[in-house]
Amino acid sequence: MNFLEERILKDGIVKEGNVLKVDSFLNHQMDIELFNEMGKEFKKRFEGKNINKILTVEASGIGIACIVAQHFGVPVVFAKKTQSINLDGEMYVAEVESFTHKCKNQVIVAQKFLNENDHILLIDDFLANGCALQGLIQLVQSAGATVEGIGIAIEKGFQPGGRMIRNLGYQLESLAIVDDMEWKTGKIVFREQN
Ligand code: 5GP
Repeated sequence: MNFLEERILKDGIVKEGNVLKVDSFLNHQMDIELFNEMGKEFKKRFEGKNINKILTVEASGIGIACIVAQHFGVPVVFAKKTQSINLDGEMYVAEVESFTHKCKNQVIVAQKFLNENDHILLIDDFLANGCALQGLIQLVQSAGATVEGIGIAIEKGFQPGGRMIRNLGYQLESLAIVDDMEWKTGKIVFREQN
């Protein structure tokens, strides 16, 4: 069992409706030492890849992406979910369906921060149905940039996103893959990874 799986067992809470709550260390309160371990692990798993930028999506991907970026020595761009007066110039926009909020969102990146010379590592906290990642991939494709890999903290392996993304041929590395969980008993089963 790796460091993240151990932490999920210790502090994660299984909620009704296939939601894993990890807000005490991952996406509300953030354990930066843990993020640092994640950064080290992603650096190892994507060794040899030519990565010059990390792309994530607001809000909960940003903290992880920033710490991971320190291990790669590259900048982070986060896709925004709302248009604002601070977003000016030409933009790339993709539609995303939200698992947690059960609604449709847009993800938006200013064109000046993503271009055809970029080799992108996508980072996010969760992978469930894969909608968020599909949106990010679409942004990268719109810019003519390259997805070099995808790093996820927690993949819910019983939802279809992981299979779908791997079938598209991307190197997807999830630090913990939950294959089964039960809110009544609190049971969490991880996929064996080597
Ligand atoms: P997807 O688009 O792959 O269905 O879902 C990814 C997004 O939904 C993540 O960025 C994350 O914010 C949220 N999410 C999906 N499943 C869970 C979950 O079980 N727990 C939490 N905390 N967030 C989730």
